[in-house]
This record gives sequence, C-alpha cells and structure tokens, in this order.
Amino acid sequence: MRHVLVLGGTAPAREVARRLAAGGCRVTSSLAGRVRESAGVAGEVRVGGFGGTDGLAAWMREHDVEVLVDATHPFAATMSAHAAHAAAATGVPLVRLDRPGWEAGPGDDWHAVPDLAAAARVADGLGDRLLVTTGRQGAAAFAQVAAWCLMRSIEPPDPPLPARHEVLLDRGPFTLEGELALLRGRDIEVVVTKNSGGGDVRAKLDAARDLGLPVVMVARPRPPRVAGVDLTVVPDAAGAARAALARA
Ligand code: NAP
Repeated sequence: MRHVLVLGGTAPAREVARRLAAGGCRVTSSLAGRVRESAGVAGEVRVGGFGGTDGLAAWMREHDVEVLVDATHPFAATMSAHAAHAAAATGVPLVRLDRPGWEAGPGDDWHAVPDLAAAARVADGLGDRLLVTTGRQGAAAFAQVAAWCLMRSIEPPDPPLPARHEVLLDRGPFTLEGELALLRGRDIEVVVTKNSGGGDVRAKLDAARDLGLPVVMVARPRPPRVAGVDLTVVPDAAGAARAALARA
C-alpha cells in the first residue's frame, strides 16, 4: 500500500486520515503528544517530535512515505516549516491543508494583534473580565494582566497564570447557545482568540457579536515558502494527497 504521512493534531487532520484510510492508503498520523488525542484516529499513529527537519526527512525515507500531508494547526508554524523543508529534501510531494481564517463581518468589534503579548496588552485595556482561548502553551503571555481571566483550554494551561483567573478545561465543538451562556454567566467583557479558522470553535465569535463584546484576534503566522517544494494548498487535502500519489 502507498504510504501517506499526515502531520496532525487537529480535527481536520483526523478527517483526512479517515478518508485516506477508507480509500485504501496506508496512513500514518503524526501527533506532537501535547494532548491526549490518538483515540479513534484512523490508520497508524506515531506520537512525539521527529527531532527537527532532518529527523522528519529521515523518518520519511525510512518508512517509504510517498506523500506528506501537513494538516497541522495554522499556528503550528515550526512544524509546517519543517514539513516544507523535509519535503524539499526528500522530493516527496507536500499537500498542506487549507483552513481559511475568520473574517470580521457587520456588527463585529475585532481588534487585530500580531501575537499573544500584544493580545494580552490590548485585551487588558478593553475590559476587566477576559475569556482567553489561545491555548495551553500561550497562557503565560497573560500572566501580567490586571484583568480577571477565564482561561479555557483542552489541557491545563502552562504557568505562570494571571493573578486573578479561573481555568476551564473544555474542547470544541462549541455551540452558540453554550457560548452565550458562558459569556453571560461569567460576565465576560472581552474575548481573546487566535485566528484559527474552522467551524468547531467559531461560536464564541458569534456570541461576542450578539452581546456587543470586543474580540482580540491574534493574526496567523505566515505559511512557509520553500524553494523547490511543490506546495499544494487545498481544502480537500485527502483528495489532493490521492492525486499526488497517482502522480508520484
Ligand atoms: P510547533 O510549535 O509548530 O512545533 C514545535 C515542535 O513540536 C516541532 O518542531 C515538532 O518537534 C513537534 N511537533 C509539532 N507538531 C507535530 C506533529 N504533528 N507530529 C510530530 N511532532 C510535532 O507546534 P505547536 O504549535 O506546539 O503544535 C503542536 C501540535 O498541536 C501540532 O500537531 C498542532 O497541529 C496541534 N495544535 C496546535 C495548536 C496551536 O495553536 N499551535 C492548536 C491546536 C492544535 P520536532 O522538531 O522534534 O519534530
């Protein structure tokens, strides 16, 4: 069977793996191991880093990978760069999953910021009760804010944490009704998020708009550009991977 390596850790990555496995490919999903997420992933699963670009390229050669799918989160910039460089080094076609970012619409009050440090600074100036949904690893950026923070993440946030905070462990998909209840119930004044895109967790944006709350939106890192790599950015990564296999 033709072997496809899917760099995952996201809901769309699981769907890509499922579709490729159902289509008769040998699929290995690679997970960083940050959260408990391997249950129910179709095909084979490997967990943990490769040891940089060279380690990833070596793994691909050793396991006869014919197509590499980068289905990591849009903010996993290091892994995406490694994928692009490893694809260039091995000559293996790379398919990168496209997940369009969210865009503000009528009634939205979004404050675009370039990074988490700016998000903490701007949000702290906008209100005294923040919902922070930027993930476990970035929580420390909010350690110095004066506002009370509801820190929502899948796994417990990495310290240091704000002086006044509550941790809420939860994972999407979230509903509009649920998000409205959360924002109202905790008297949230500002919502802080990365521009992850996708439908599973966007209800907080709709809820913020409905309640007239500002949203501090962290912009995405730029996707990698590597000379010599045929980067195929597509919404249907499973279909593109099958097409790349057919060409390989
Ligand atoms: P990152 O900063 O881009 O990568 C840091 C290092 O983690 C990489 O150099 C690599 O180690 C390892 N790594 C990352 N993704 C991996 C994967 N799928 N398989 C094997 N090793 C991986 O990554 P991150 O932002 O910490 O994200 C880690 C994982 O969580 C990714 O799989 C991503 O899809 C998922 N995720 C991230 C976010 C986010 O906001 N960043 C949100 C939801 C899910 P080596 O150099 O040793 O290979």
